[in-house]
Amino acid sequence: MKRSLRFQLSLGNTLIVLLTVCAISLSARFFIKQQFDRYIISQQSAHAASLASTISAQYGGIHMSWNEDYIHGFGMYALHEGYIIRVTDLDGCIIWDAEHHDMELCHGVMQDIMERIHTSRPETSVQLIHDHLPLTDADGEIIGYADIQYYAPNSSHTEDFAFLNALNRILLLTGAVSLLMAILIGFWMAGRIARPIAAVTGAARDVSGGNYDLALPDHGQSTELDTLTRSIRHMAESLKTQEERKRRMTTDIAHELRTPIANISSYLEAMAEGVWEPTSERLQECHREAQRIAGIVGQLETLHRSEEPQAPLELSSVSVGDLCHSVAASFARAFEEHHQTCRVEGEDFALETDAGKLRQVLMNLLSNAMKYTPDGKDISVSFAHTEKNARIRVEDQGIGIPKEEQDLIFERFYRTDLSRSRDSGGAGIGLAITKALVEQLGGEIHVESEEHRGSTFTVTLPMKKS
Ligand code: ADP
Repeated sequence: MKRSLRFQLSLGNTLIVLLTVCAISLSARFFIKQQFDRYIISQQSAHAASLASTISAQYGGIHMSWNEDYIHGFGMYALHEGYIIRVTDLDGCIIWDAEHHDMELCHGVMQDIMERIHTSRPETSVQLIHDHLPLTDADGEIIGYADIQYYAPNSSHTEDFAFLNALNRILLLTGAVSLLMAILIGFWMAGRIARPIAAVTGAARDVSGGNYDLALPDHGQSTELDTLTRSIRHMAESLKTQEERKRRMTTDIAHELRTPIANISSYLEAMAEGVWEPTSERLQECHREAQRIAGIVGQLETLHRSEEPQAPLELSSVSVGDLCHSVAASFARAFEEHHQTCRVEGEDFALETDAGKLRQVLMNLLSNAMKYTPDGKDISVSFAHTEKNARIRVEDQGIGIPKEEQDLIFERFYRTDLSRSRDSGGAGIGLAITKALVEQLGGEIHVESEEHRGSTFTVTLPMKKS
């Protein structure tokens, strides 16, 4: 059966406190009782010694003999207190013996004592103690012996037991109060832990239901709960961004495809209805638009492949100089057409990377440089390296990118206002592909640019792909 976290925490806490209180109470009770019994026995033994010294004091007179009447009276008095006395002289002759005097009374008194102890403290184990004490005269000479028997622990002082009982009651009360306090505090603490967890659970449920705008503040009382709260908030934000990106991408694709499709269908419609002659020029226009659509679809496929996190890399030792020269050479005709010159500068070095992907990165950057640079201006590709990183730069003297748009150009379908006025034929996917490829190669891409002066794209890659 499932129970709430608060209930389980409270229950666990209560059980721990219950066990602790029971353990403390029982052990305290045991040790107090043990100490108390020791104390009573020591009191009884001291009393027996004082009985012996009182008897010793009865020896004397002119005949240096025992005052037997006094010893008899004293012995009877001690018997009622629970002490059975036998006095013998040095020769072992009995001077006075309680058992000898009244066996039945002795038996009765001891029986009473035993019963009283059993009724008042049934858990106590009673023992019969036998003290053999020397009796001395005024000079300290031993004149005989007193054998005193008594049941211990036994006390005729009721305050002794009242004290023990009070102590036990205090112990019980303290235990009960601490248990109650622990339950209340535990319940409150469990609530404090369970409440934010319930809030986070609710938030996670909201997120799974598609509500990403969470009002989920930091709890502020526990690091782990705050980390959990922040993670859920972060998850909601990234899901929201992804959702927005997905939505924007759909509308962007629709937007990019709409124009060429509308152009093709209006051309074909006009030709089918006989309004326009199907001249080779018009058919070529349709073909160009169809190629534009094919280009966008192709780029989308490449983007999808480049963003695949587990896309395999074909690593090899690549000569960066050769690669840059060969990519620049593949644009030679286009540069010529635009009267642009492209310089390739740097000392060749080998880099462990995926040659195909790096070639595509450079192709994209050079193609952009060419598209967005006016005729007659210069473009340059330069490369260098440190022990750890390789750096390749593509620099142009083109239209530039406004500061506030420099981060956005790496997003899919983003085109700056400056470039829209030029009919570059691009759909704004090239740099998104470039960025994804560079990241796959374990590197980074940055842009520095000034409007109407030019842009520099810098690709930094690790010398060895780990
Ligand atoms: P496109 O196919 O439109 O060129 P990209 O993703 O390659 O798409 O580039 C995105 C946008 O970034 C371009 O439309 C353009 O506005 C801007 N851009 C890219 N490269 C340059 C550059 N060298 N000079 C100026 N603007 C550039």
